[in-house]
Amino acid sequence: MPKADKFREACGVVAIYAHPEAEKLAYLGLHALQHRGQESAGIVTSDGDALRLHKGMGLVAEIFSEEVLSKLHGNLAIGHTRYSTAGDSALLNAQPIRVQSNKGTIALAHNGNLVNASVIRSHLESQGSIFQTNSDTEVIVHLIARSKEQALLDAMADALRQVEGAFSLVMISPDRIYAARDPRGFRPLALGRIPGGGGPNGDTIVFASETCAFDLIGATFERDVKPGELMVAGPSGITSRFFAPPQPQSSCIFEHVYFSRPDSLVFGRAVEESRAELGRELAREAPAEADMVVPVPDSGVSAAMGYAAESGIPFRFGLIRNHYVGRTFIEPLQSVRDFGVKLKLNPVRSLLEGKRVVLIDDSIVRGTTSRKIVRMVRGAGAREVHMRISCPPTISPCFYGVDTPSMRELIAANKSIEEIREFIGADSLAYLSVEGLKKACGDGQKTTYCSACYTGCYPTDWVDVEEIQPARGRR
Ligand code: AMP
Repeated sequence: MPKADKFREACGVVAIYAHPEAEKLAYLGLHALQHRGQESAGIVTSDGDALRLHKGMGLVAEIFSEEVLSKLHGNLAIGHTRYSTAGDSALLNAQPIRVQSNKGTIALAHNGNLVNASVIRSHLESQGSIFQTNSDTEVIVHLIARSKEQALLDAMADALRQVEGAFSLVMISPDRIYAARDPRGFRPLALGRIPGGGGPNGDTIVFASETCAFDLIGATFERDVKPGELMVAGPSGITSRFFAPPQPQSSCIFEHVYFSRPDSLVFGRAVEESRAELGRELAREAPAEADMVVPVPDSGVSAAMGYAAESGIPFRFGLIRNHYVGRTFIEPLQSVRDFGVKLKLNPVRSLLEGKRVVLIDDSIVRGTTSRKIVRMVRGAGAREVHMRISCPPTISPCFYGVDTPSMRELIAANKSIEEIREFIGADSLAYLSVEGLKKACGDGQKTTYCSACYTGCYPTDWVDVEEIQPARGRR
């Protein structure tokens, strides 16, 4: 099996074609997509002539002041927000990537991970190519520049045929916006329109990872960019072509479980509908005798409401989240137990004292968060804590753009459910089944999903063999 790359990053992208304040719409779009990446962000704009770029580390609102945005003023824009774990988090890797090539000046923003990027990169480096970042996305830029196709659109299609894995891309040239999705449709990318915004036929064309970005900028959702589709928004309107034959669709089910916002339509389906159904299904599969259903906010809220509705057990906000936790904080020298989680969550003692609680979260990854939260709920006087997880055990890492640790660190890859229950200190623990998950997310209806993180069955041949090494003495 070939060795794949794993860049551990998650991202959001947005693109605006033809609006007098494209830079502001891109900024607002990124603001709505902030949950998809909080480490760095960037915007590239065009006024029909040159491409202007600004990117920085931190949150969208910290990076783009009014002054910065006024310098970016343009009619076309793309934007990117990125999250990555240690190692490759430098500004160098922030996107969009802008280059001047034999095909003109272009910039590109990518959501997803390519699984064959390092193989292509080694090959290109052996032929003299010089890379400036260690991000997989730069490979696409090189392939476009080196393509024998003369026209930019043909060169893009040529490049996209050579990369494997997950990519939802937006690109900009001085007078056009391009949007493309990999042939399996791993990550979302939606097309929308602002009537009378100022583009061809009077409308502004927009692309975004999630439709919550459209809501903020007054765009209406039109449809998803299709798997294998390359779209262009230009002076004569929108054109579309397929750069590769279709593959079996493998859209990421984790977008519905956790990653996307519940107010978004993702893969043509309301995320909130999936989440509530995940909770209802969980209540049917794993009932509990309890006095209240308490979500781990925010990620467990929709599923907990579904669980409460199905089970008839009252829903209570027994944990309160502080939404203003900054990126840096001062920790007391005398370390407070579970300080990190306490910064973010606080139990409501008056509700929990003496009660049997069903605690709902969307997932257990390493198990450390759940362990602290169970301890916190017990510390606030709960008599029993029954943990219910609205997805199956996470047993395998993702190679397609969701940040998951290697198999060695995934608790469910290394411990039985009973051992996990003991580790987190709950009275009982149950997960949703794979069948329940797929049913709740409407698998096989509009969308067929990738659920490799729950099954270990990867839709591409390329996986990272290092990442899927089991822990010693297990499995
Ligand atoms: P852990 O302590 O590793 O078990 O973390 C579990 C918590 O992380 C849950 O509350 C999830 O909501 C959250 N979570 C799950 N997957 C991810 C992810 N890919 N990135 C960030 N947070 C996540």
